[in-house]
Amino acid sequence: MVMNSENQWEMVSLLLNARFAMSVTDLVTGDTRMPVLRGEIRSDEPMSKHTSWRVGGHADHYYIPADLDDFTNFLQGSPHESITVIGLGSNLLVRDGGLRGTVVALHAQLNDLRLIEQNQSGGLIYAGAGVACAKVARFAARHNLAGAEFLAGIPGTVGGALAMNAGCYGSEIWEIVAQPQIINRSGHIFIRQAGEYTIGYRSVELQHELTSTIEPEWFAGGYLRLPHGEQTESRQRIKQLLTQRVDSQPLNQPNAGSVFRNPPEDYAARLIEACGLKGCSIGGAMVSPKHANFIVNTGNATATDIEALILMVQSRVMKATGIELRQEVRIIGDARRLT
Ligand SMILES: Cc1cc2nc3c(=O)[nH]c(=O)nc-3n(C[C@H](O)[C@H](O)[C@H](O)COP(=O)(O)OP(=O)(O)OC[C@H]3O[C@@H](n4cnc5c(N)ncnc54)[C@H](O)[C@@H]3O)c2cc1C
Repeated sequence: MVMNSENQWEMVSLLLNARFAMSVTDLVTGDTRMPVLRGEIRSDEPMSKHTSWRVGGHADHYYIPADLDDFTNFLQGSPHESITVIGLGSNLLVRDGGLRGTVVALHAQLNDLRLIEQNQSGGLIYAGAGVACAKVARFAARHNLAGAEFLAGIPGTVGGALAMNAGCYGSEIWEIVAQPQIINRSGHIFIRQAGEYTIGYRSVELQHELTSTIEPEWFAGGYLRLPHGEQTESRQRIKQLLTQRVDSQPLNQPNAGSVFRNPPEDYAARLIEACGLKGCSIGGAMVSPKHANFIVNTGNATATDIEALILMVQSRVMKATGIELRQEVRIIGDARRLT
């Protein structure tokens, strides 16, 4: 439902349902301090529609902000609501009991993609959190900027990639981040420096002394600095990386990419395969026979099936090799809906 003055009453009832902490009097009297939300709000939204595994329970509420300003207004109008920000859901397992509070989906909305500056040595790109990584790779190539080609095969958003330090084939997004743009729980938008984070393999954390004093925050976008390159070479590289993926990954079945991080000096896929787990399944979830670090939904998997298979793989690998496989995918939500 798009918020406008005609359906303000409907909005009141939705917001009340959602236990939003805003004054009903303000809404009913049309108090001008309350900006009208321009995004779309849904209730009881199946998260299976928004995750690449195509499983998961319902979110109490699901908000698609119209743009960054609208996201700010939404956050300011719902100060007590529990918020989960997602991109394309390509690294997410939402449990079957679903998510309480509001899921805010940024993909395709915070989609500003601009060349900020360019000179002989390179250029600076701004990409909103909702822009698909593949779009950034093609945009950079078109402007003769090198080093973003690896993003072409990552089926997530810039926001998700920043949160995960997504990467492949020897490159990671934070290697090209000049400054992330942040939106915090109060709806303030500001810039941080890359040096304020501890960046690791698929891990990004605000430095400890900062986290103890601040409110929750999310990536609203990022400034990416790239060296000068050649368009044809970048396009060639993108093509080559995409072919490599099609050859090695089960892209015809719902999945969430690599389930586990590679342990130091080894590969999760090698360990899983060595333990004879390729093709192993629980319910509709199966360890892909094509790539052992992928778990695929063969058609009727539940999040419970997938999580049980993740635990089984971890335990079998630990038993056989003594190595602990740590998850790369994020698991969120309630195991079972409480009534
Ligand atoms: C076929 C396939 C191949 C893949 N290959 C790769 C690969 O090569 N390398 C790789 O690194 N990953 C890979 N992935 C995993 C996934 O695409 C990446 O982790 C991607 O960066 C996730 O982006 P997303 O927008 O889908 O994030 P989501 O899955 O929507 O979210 C992931 C996490 O980030 C958080 N998040 C999302 N947006 C924001 C934001 N704006 N601010 C703060 N937190 C946010 C979410 O809350 C969640 O915790 C692959 C996945 C698939 C399905």
